[in-house]
Amino acid sequence: MNNIIVQKFGGTSVGTTELIKKVAERVVKEKRSGKKVVVVVSAMGKSTDDLVEMALDINENPSSREMDVLLATGEQVSISLLAMAIDALGEKAISLTGAQCGIITDSHHKNARISEIQTNRLLTELYDGNIVIVAGFQGITSDLNISTLGRGGSDTTAVALAAALKADCCEIYTDVDGVYSADPRKVTNAKRMDIISYDEMLELAKLGAQVLHPRSVEMARNYNVPLYVKPSHTEGQGTKIAEVNNLENYKVRGVTIDKDIARLSITGVPDKPGIAFRLFERLAENDITIDMILQNLNHNTQNDISFTVPMDHLSACAGIAKAYKDEIEADDVVMKENVSKISVIGTGITSNPVIASKMFGALYELGVNIEMISTSETKISCIIDDQHSDEVLEKIHALFF
Ligand code: ASP
Ligand code: MG
Repeated sequence: MNNIIVQKFGGTSVGTTELIKKVAERVVKEKRSGKKVVVVVSAMGKSTDDLVEMALDINENPSSREMDVLLATGEQVSISLLAMAIDALGEKAISLTGAQCGIITDSHHKNARISEIQTNRLLTELYDGNIVIVAGFQGITSDLNISTLGRGGSDTTAVALAAALKADCCEIYTDVDGVYSADPRKVTNAKRMDIISYDEMLELAKLGAQVLHPRSVEMARNYNVPLYVKPSHTEGQGTKIAEVNNLENYKVRGVTIDKDIARLSITGVPDKPGIAFRLFERLAENDITIDMILQNLNHNTQNDISFTVPMDHLSACAGIAKAYKDEIEADDVVMKENVSKISVIGTGITSNPVIASKMFGALYELGVNIEMISTSETKISCIIDDQHSDEVLEKIHALFF
C-alpha cells in the first residue's frame, strides 16, 4: 500500500463548471483524508462529439493525426478548470496532459495503445503535495505526435496510471451508481451488483454495457488493479471489479443488447483451403473489427461465410467483401443492418445447459428467429432481428433475475 489512489471522472460528471466544483470538493476531501490523489478527467459533457462534428463539417475524411490533435483539446479544458477549482478550495493541484505525464503510445492514431508510462514527473508532483490532474484518453507517440486511445479511453488512462503507480485502487466515477445486470434505463428490474469478476465485466463491457472501456477492464485484470465503479455526485458504494472465485456457482450475472452492429454474408464461396484466411487477413489489414463468424456448408462444394461488424465499419467492410467476392467468384454479398446481439453473461454458464435452453426458449416464445449463435466460457450471444430487441432484453432479464 503506497497510499496512492487514482480517481476518474467522466464527461457527464464534469459537464458544467458547477459540477467541476463538486468534483473538486470530492477530490480535496480524499486528499485531506491522507491520500496521494491522481485524478483523470474526460472532456466536458459531449464536447468530444462536438469536436468530431466540427471536423467532419470541414473535411469529410480528416487525417487521423489531425483528429488526435483536435480531440485531445477537450480533456485539456477540463484538467485546467479542475485544477483551478481545487486551488480555489485551498489545495495544491497541477494539471498535466498525456504527454506531460509521460504516457507513451504507439502511432495508431485515434486508437493508440499505451506502450509505456514514465512516472517520474507524476511522482515528483505527488510527493510535492499536489493533487495531480491528468487528461484522459491521450498520450504521445515516440516521435512526439499527440495520440488518443479511442472513444471512451479515459477509463484506460486511469487504470494504466493506477497500474504504473501501483496505486491502492482505481475508482471510476460516473453518472450511474454501479454496474447493473442490464441497462437500468431499459430494464425495470435491473439489479446493481456489489462485486463482479474481471472476466464477467470484460464481457459486459465488450457486449455493450457502456460503463467501462473494455481495454481498461483487461488492463485492470492483467495488472490486478482493484477497480470500482461509483456514482460521482451521490454516496453509493458502487460496484467492485475484482478476482472473484464463485467455484461452480454458475449463474447469469448480466444481460446486454448491442444494436450497433450489422451482419454480412458472402454466399456461394468455394469450399477449399485459404478462402476464409484471405478474407479475414484483408479485413484485419484494414483494421476492421469482426465479431461473430459463422461458416456453413451449403452444398458439397460451396459455403456461406457470415460475420458481424460494428456499424461504423460496415461500409469499409462491404467494399472489401464485394471485391473479394468477385475475385473468388462467389455468388453474392448480403448485408443486414437491422440486427441486434443479445447476450447473457456469467462465468461458466455454458457448462450449465439449462441457461442456453431457457434463453432460446424465451426467444421462441416471443416468435423471434435466431440468426446466429456464439458461445464462450462466459457468454451466450444470439443475433436477432432488432425489431423486438427491447422486449427481448426485458424478457430474458426477467428469466434470470
Ligand atoms: N472524451 C473522450 C470521449 O468522449 C474520452 C472519454 O470520455 O473517455 O470519447
Ligand atoms: Mg466512458
